[in-house]
Amino acid sequence: MIRFETLLEKVRSYSPEADLELLRRAYVFSALEHKGQVRHSGEPYLVHPLKVADFLADMKLDVVAVAAGLLHDVVEDTLTTPERIAELFGPEVAHVVEGVTKIGAIPFSSSEERQAENFRKMLLAMVDDIRVILVKLADRLHNMRTLHHLPEERRTMIAQETLDIYAPIANRLGMSKVKNELEELSFRHLEPEAYEALRSKVEGKRKFAEGVIEELTRTIRAKLEDAQVPILHLDGRIKRLYSIHLKLKRQKIELERVYDFVALRVTTQSVKDCYAALGIIHQTWSPVPGRIKDFIAMPRPNGYQSLHTSVISEHGFPFEVQIRTEEMHRRAEEGIAAHWKYKEGRVGDRRDERYFQWMRQLLELQQEVRDPQEFLRNLKIDLYPEEVYIFTPKGEVKSLPRGATAVDFAYSVHTDVGNQCVGARINGKMVPLRTRLQNGDIVMIVTQAGHRPSRDWLTFVATARARSKIRHVLQGAERAGSIELGRRLFEKEARRFGLNPKTILESEALAKFASEYGAQKADELLAHIGYGKLSARTVLQKAVPAGLLKERAPESGVVSAVKRVLRSGAAGDRIKVRGTDDVMVFRAKCCNPIRGEPILGYITRGKGVSVHSASCSNVLKLMFDPERRIDVEWDRDSGDQAPYTVRLTMQVEDRKGMLAEISAKISDINTNITNMEARSGSDHHARIDMTVEIRDLKHLEKVIKSIRAVEGVLAVERTARA
Ligand code: MN
Repeated sequence: MIRFETLLEKVRSYSPEADLELLRRAYVFSALEHKGQVRHSGEPYLVHPLKVADFLADMKLDVVAVAAGLLHDVVEDTLTTPERIAELFGPEVAHVVEGVTKIGAIPFSSSEERQAENFRKMLLAMVDDIRVILVKLADRLHNMRTLHHLPEERRTMIAQETLDIYAPIANRLGMSKVKNELEELSFRHLEPEAYEALRSKVEGKRKFAEGVIEELTRTIRAKLEDAQVPILHLDGRIKRLYSIHLKLKRQKIELERVYDFVALRVTTQSVKDCYAALGIIHQTWSPVPGRIKDFIAMPRPNGYQSLHTSVISEHGFPFEVQIRTEEMHRRAEEGIAAHWKYKEGRVGDRRDERYFQWMRQLLELQQEVRDPQEFLRNLKIDLYPEEVYIFTPKGEVKSLPRGATAVDFAYSVHTDVGNQCVGARINGKMVPLRTRLQNGDIVMIVTQAGHRPSRDWLTFVATARARSKIRHVLQGAERAGSIELGRRLFEKEARRFGLNPKTILESEALAKFASEYGAQKADELLAHIGYGKLSARTVLQKAVPAGLLKERAPESGVVSAVKRVLRSGAAGDRIKVRGTDDVMVFRAKCCNPIRGEPILGYITRGKGVSVHSASCSNVLKLMFDPERRIDVEWDRDSGDQAPYTVRLTMQVEDRKGMLAEISAKISDINTNITNMEARSGSDHHARIDMTVEIRDLKHLEKVIKSIRAVEGVLAVERTARA
């Protein structure tokens, strides 16, 4: 068992000024909290955090990371809260521990490649401190090393997750040593038989392979010495079982036919020496065409740098040689972790420029990085700033653009789900549909059959898909509305002349006119009327002989019998289009006409009839398109008289008690004031803005008259917008 004192010594050796007291306190606290807990191996639980911390110390990470390693399981496994950790060990340690706890709690259940990819991205997107990932990887590594103590089912699950999620993350961060070990261990637990078979076969060749490696290294060493290319290390090894396994699987061949399971690695002092060594190796043995890779000039996306080549030995089989500098080697092994320690005490080394280029790319950060130490400390990983990763209730991970809302999510599931969504639950809580989604949210959409998207959704959706689907439905609905409106208008017009609209609509004359007009069917013609492109009268004139169009009384008995009260907008808007029913009618916002006031209607494009006050300044503009004008009237039979809000503006003399007097007058005539504001102006004048509830025009006139009667009131005006 590892001793805590050994860990302290290790940290002291690379960071003499570190706060070792913090580590000691973290250790004691962790020991107390995990007291009595036992691992599956039978060891005390404390061994695990100690091993994790030790591994972080091997990576030469700072005390915050090592302390977080000691404490990483206390929030999850004991009653300790993150607040308590912050109190005792500071906000940084608490932040890392909380991050580790949070990503540990994400349930991952699918091994489908796309899902795994999204899951990895989500995990990285949720982390804002690289140390969270490093602690998590250390944790996973120790768990994998001790996995054999667990029951088989758990073993398989954890190994799969490691292979799908954590090994690729280690790879992405350039930590090949961790990645390799995670892969080997996962392979062993996921496919124990294949692993064992391969291991014993490779074992059978070990003696032979070791002989070959011995011979090859001797040759290389001698040749490089002759050429005066200094080398720091030279070693050979049998490739990892998992990479041989992948190769066998990929090429569908047996081990007997895989010759290059041997790899040599040369470490040199400089980049120049790398290329020199490559040249000498190619002079000694023939290179395999297409296998020379220069990752020094063109590093891999995770920053990996090295020269790779395969050559044919004098025994007639190929083997791989990797050539790199010592620095490249360390980075290849430790990736981002190597960097953390590397910069201690040394800032702004030019040689690191390339590495930082990669870091910048990796992190997709735009800002200039001058001080690498500072950079890592304050690292906010936002690897995928454009995306947000969320869960379906079944545990699938979906990626959506940042800013996506519950509605975008609904449309990403299915068009019908989008069209019919009425609500959303995020992490179990009911939220408005416009709610923007956060990484890791579990989103459930509530649907209702027959529900339609609302125009309002267009103001907040973030995906093109949702936008176009919503538009599509709205346009369909608009068109249906326009056909309906056109039909009503046409029927009304026909009946004015005592004609049967149905007969006309089915007549050949009408069909002929329709096709001349470029309309496929009568419906399309009606839609044109509804949109206001054609008048009902024009259509009628084209479809019936002129002699039949002798105007009758404005309204027939039949029409008034089918009149219906229309409701639209706020309660109490009762307006009807003369002679028709069921037409969408709404009060225009520019003038907000009130009951009793002269009004006129205007057929909008697809949204029904807007009703303006006859004195509205916009009405004049409407006259430019007279065919779209339509007669409307207040419905006298409408029952309850819900009030309209009307704004009044008055100029008054600025004297004491003026406001009180005006409001008393208004109250006297049973009128509600919902809002009142007064502002003093120049030369003892004041302006009062007031909102009152008005039943109809007569009521309004009465209110205005009584205000005018107050002494000192200079002017009263109705404000156009309510
Ligand atoms: Mn753990």
